[in-house]
Amino acid sequence: MREKIIELEELAKSLEPGKEEREALRSKVIDYTEQFLDEIGGIPAYFKEKDGKNEISKTEPGKEILPIDEIINRLKVEMDREGINPASGGHLGYIPGGGIYASSLADYWGDITNRYAGVFYANPGAVKIENKMIRWTADLMGYPETAHGNLTSGGSIANLIGIVSARHAKNIHATIIPSSCIYFTKQAHHSVAKAIQIAALHECQIRYVEMDENFRMDVVDLEKKVKEDIARGLNPFLVVGSAGTTDVGAIDPMEEISRISRENNLWFHVDAAYGGFFILVDEIKQKFKGIELSDSMSVDPHKGLFLPYGLGISLVREREHMKKAFAFQASYLQDITAAQDEVNPMDVSPEMTKHFRGLRIWLPLLLYGTEPFRACLEEKLFLARYFHQEIKKVDGFDVGLYPQLSVVTFRYTDGGEDNEAINRRILEEVLKDGRVFFSSTTIQGNFTLRLAILSFRTHLQTIDLTLEIIKEKTALVVKEFQKIESPVN
Ligand SMILES: *Cc1c(COP(=O)(O)O)cnc(C)c1O
Repeated sequence: MREKIIELEELAKSLEPGKEEREALRSKVIDYTEQFLDEIGGIPAYFKEKDGKNEISKTEPGKEILPIDEIINRLKVEMDREGINPASGGHLGYIPGGGIYASSLADYWGDITNRYAGVFYANPGAVKIENKMIRWTADLMGYPETAHGNLTSGGSIANLIGIVSARHAKNIHATIIPSSCIYFTKQAHHSVAKAIQIAALHECQIRYVEMDENFRMDVVDLEKKVKEDIARGLNPFLVVGSAGTTDVGAIDPMEEISRISRENNLWFHVDAAYGGFFILVDEIKQKFKGIELSDSMSVDPHKGLFLPYGLGISLVREREHMKKAFAFQASYLQDITAAQDEVNPMDVSPEMTKHFRGLRIWLPLLLYGTEPFRACLEEKLFLARYFHQEIKKVDGFDVGLYPQLSVVTFRYTDGGEDNEAINRRILEEVLKDGRVFFSSTTIQGNFTLRLAILSFRTHLQTIDLTLEIIKEKTALVVKEFQKIESPVN
């Protein structure tokens, strides 16, 4: 038996490389990532998919063994040179963020030391860091001492936690699901409807609240719908507002929604995944007034604090509602459930074991303070206004609403019946060029171009370049359509 054990130990040895081997592996990975960062200004924001040859799909982990140089090369060529480049300041599509460097080192640290951040007993330090960051965020949003939260993988899970907490707080059990009502607008992020479905609340009465001309929730309509439902003997219990919609950056009227919620005993959840951290900028803090009165909220540091992907935060005003929804006991956990000051992250989350996410937000805030984040966010607000002002001056373009946050919508409208086709072609040409990336949406039935500015690497020069590219591609496309329309000879 001893011989067998020693033989197995020998076979598993590559899992514990020695100092020199670690150094060799590390330096190659670091060489690559350093080069990536040095060149980031010149690496396209978008790569059209290459035809044919892609070694990644042919690579067979578990079946073949490759040297690190070959692995890095395949990743470089086949992964980092395809599709969207989210690290690029030219990423102006969907909702960008960027990925600040300090967080990557925090992740590295967290992986090496492998702290267990699920329970206080296992690693009080890691849990204190996590809970400290939750407290910091709760303070920022104006939540009381009774609030708590959880560091999630992103905004979708944070929305799910809020909505499941609402279900428990309002005691929405199976028999009353069909008579219970949920309210939000068609601007709400799809992860809200997804969370409602995962929480098995999709058989509730879903009410789409009307919006005003700025795509904000029409609170008169909300109140009317709630009252009507009550009069019908139904059970209104949840309203979801947005502090910055993904589509256009609309901020719902928080104060009014919280008043209506309070008066009618509704749970008010705010999806602030995109917009939440703009609260660092005074001007936006005013527009968010009333957000502190909500019952739960989601924010996304991997958007608004520019962290690498993998961090959202759910906040719940009264921590007891989170615990009611997520705390479970098991005999093999008896050592860890003894009374303690700190909430166990696993007691307020669907997850148990998870990556130590606290460090990736704690480290950059401790290194730099909040001021650079605030300034960077304010810069983005101004860049959006600048783009809005400048694209309006470009011949043929119509621009959407003055940006409430950092999203601008615009479209070419001088092409009559060809407008949609022209806008699609402009976007196609911009993506083919690849120096910047943006996306499209549909607004009031119209195919519309859309710029979302939130990468910490996006600056004035990026926006000037974007304007230049749009002008250049539009001229090309318009000429193309003129040729189709009036074929010479
Ligand atoms: C991005 C986003 C989400 C989803 O967050 P993920 O981090 O992608 O899961 C939810 N709501 C809004 C408003 C968003 O912008």
